[in-house]
Amino acid sequence: MIVTRFAPSPNGPLHLGHAFSALTAHDLAMRSGGRFLLRIEDIDGARSRPELADEFRRDLAWLGLEWDEVPAQSTRVASYDAAAHMLLCRALGVLYPCRCTRAQIAAASRETAPDGSPVYPGTCREQPVTGDTSHCAWRLDMAKACEIAGPLVWTDDLAGKQQARPELFGDVVILRKDAPASYHLAATMDDHADGVTLVTRGMDLFASTHVHRLLQALLGLPVPTWHHHPLLLDADGRKLAKRRGSPALADLRQAGEDGRALAEHLRAGKLPAGISLSESLHSES
Ligand code: GLU
Repeated sequence: MIVTRFAPSPNGPLHLGHAFSALTAHDLAMRSGGRFLLRIEDIDGARSRPELADEFRRDLAWLGLEWDEVPAQSTRVASYDAAAHMLLCRALGVLYPCRCTRAQIAAASRETAPDGSPVYPGTCREQPVTGDTSHCAWRLDMAKACEIAGPLVWTDDLAGKQQARPELFGDVVILRKDAPASYHLAATMDDHADGVTLVTRGMDLFASTHVHRLLQALLGLPVPTWHHHPLLLDADGRKLAKRRGSPALADLRQAGEDGRALAEHLRAGKLPAGISLSESLHSES
C-alpha cells in the first residue's frame, strides 16, 4: 500500500505551492487506495508557530482533502534522542559536538551545500569532547559515516535511480542547539515511524534525500521511494513564498474562494496568472 505525507512546518501560512504539494501527495496515495498523512513539523525553534496548525487543517479541508493525522514532531523528541544516541554509541561513533556559531562557520567555510548553506569547515571535528556539551549542536562526521555505510542508491519515481551523494553536505547537524533535532534526522525518523512508503515533497528538497538515505543506512531503517514534484514558480521564476507576495490559502479561504475548484485547477495545471510550474525531474535511463 502506498503511504504518502504532507509535512508542513508551521513557520508561516500555507500558500499555493503547499496546496500543490498536498494535492500531489494526496492523489498519489488515493490513486492506489493508499493512505495520505498530515504531519505537523513543529520543532523549528523560535520560527515555529504551532497555532498555525489549525489553520493548515482548515486549508486542507477547504481544498477538499481528507487525511490521517500523525503526531506532530514536538511529541517525538524521545525518538530523535534515541536515534542520535544510536549514531553516537552503537559502534558508529559518527557524531561530535560543535560549538561554532553561524558567523564562524560562514567565515571559515569554503564550499556551499546543495541546500545553499555553507559546508561546515570541520573546526570541532578533531577536538576532544570536554566540558558541558548540553548547549552544543551535534554533527555527523560525514567522511566516517560514508565509509561505514558504503555506496548507497535511492529512487525517485520521476528522476529514477540516484547514487547517494551525502558528502556534498559535509558534516551536517543532527541535533540542533536551538531545537530537538535537525530536519534531516526528524524527517528520516518520522517517515519511518509513520510507515511512509513514498516520500512526496517538492524538488527543492531533492538533494536532502542524499543525507536521509545515509541516515537510513546508519540507523538500519527500510528505504522508501521518493517523489520530488515540480514547484510552482512566481513571475520571476522563483519558488512561491508568502514573503514575496504569494497569497496565503487562509486569505483565499476567508475571502470566500472555492477551495475545491482551486484544487481542480491545480490538478489540471490551470494556474493563476503569473504562476508557472517548474520542469519536472525526468529519468535519464
Ligand atoms: N517541513 C518541511 C517544509 O515545510 C517539509 C519537509 C519534507 O517534506 O520533507 O518545508
